[in-house]
Amino acid sequence: MTPHEMSDFIRIVDKTDRNLFQVMVVTWRRGPHSPSMRWKTVLELLKDLLLDAKTIHSIHTILANDLRFFRVCRQCNIRDLVGRFIEDNMCHSRAEENGVVF
Ligand SMILES: [Zn+2]
Repeated sequence: MTPHEMSDFIRIVDKTDRNLFQVMVVTWRRGPHSPSMRWKTVLELLKDLLLDAKTIHSIHTILANDLRFFRVCRQCNIRDLVGRFIEDNMCHSRAEENGVVF
């Protein structure tokens, strides 16, 4: 996942008194071929805190490296949403290539 693609999965929501940092979460409640995507608020900061570009970049970096939300596939070496992993370090694509049937 490139930095540009990563930004597709982390966003800032501007509220009246705070900024919400949200991360895309994938769930499979409807079955193995029907992923559900939703935004989850993982950090709320009062607007008193100045969010300059450097601070936003730092928060993005921290979230991109948070194992609750993203993993790096040990075979592809690609970072992706944790919901797209079958094991801690193997993405769905590699799992299928290795014989896992969803
Ligand atoms: Zn992979």
